[in-house]
Amino acid sequence: SDFASLGLSEPIWRAAAERGYTTPTPIQAQAIPAVLSGVDLLAGAQTGTGKTAAFAMPILHQLAATAATAFHGPSSVRALILVPTRELAAQVEESVQLYGKNLSLRSLILIGGVKINPQMQKLRRSVDVLVATPGRLLDHIQQRSVDLSHVEILVLDEADRMLDMGFIRDIRRILAILPKKRQNLLFSATFSPEIRTLADGLLHNPVSVEV
Ligand code: AMP
Repeated sequence: SDFASLGLSEPIWRAAAERGYTTPTPIQAQAIPAVLSGVDLLAGAQTGTGKTAAFAMPILHQLAATAATAFHGPSSVRALILVPTRELAAQVEESVQLYGKNLSLRSLILIGGVKINPQMQKLRRSVDVLVATPGRLLDHIQQRSVDLSHVEILVLDEADRMLDMGFIRDIRRILAILPKKRQNLLFSATFSPEIRTLADGLLHNPVSVEV
């Protein structure tokens, strides 16, 4: 698999191959080695380019390669993926499941429009990959049902849509409680001055990729 030569481990590229994906798309070819190297990433990519796998695959690789530290308690999260809509959250989590199917990592989705109590039950165990919309994540932060103090990797997916939908204050409130030392990935189809400002504040010496 060409995914192997990008540095991804066998369980991950095999899952992709089983789905029929053996050739990385351009955004994947650029983003995957960068994410695996641990740097912050600024990615310009429309939906349909394979952008989801471009962050999901290397995140799964990194989480599987390193154990959570012993002090991680219940409800702690290692990778946080923020998305603008419930539909996108479902799609992203599906991809995380797909590429992670040969690994024993736990993913969870937190979206509005559904009961909060079942989500709280599921948050009693630690989570490797959390996919969330900002509003419902803030509800859980207020209820103290989620522990974001050990987040290692943050993704803002479709950041332009998140700003268009008025989520900037929610995003800033979430960013404020994350640990300072972490890897940040920002994906956006367009780059307005507002996105640039968000990216400048969020990303440290980012690698930029664009398709
Ligand atoms: P996305 O841009 O993440 O919404 O992905 C668009 C579509 O491309 C999804 O249906 C993916 O399953 C599919 N896809 C992702 N990576 C590949 C690949 N390397 N080869 C072929 N299809 C892919």
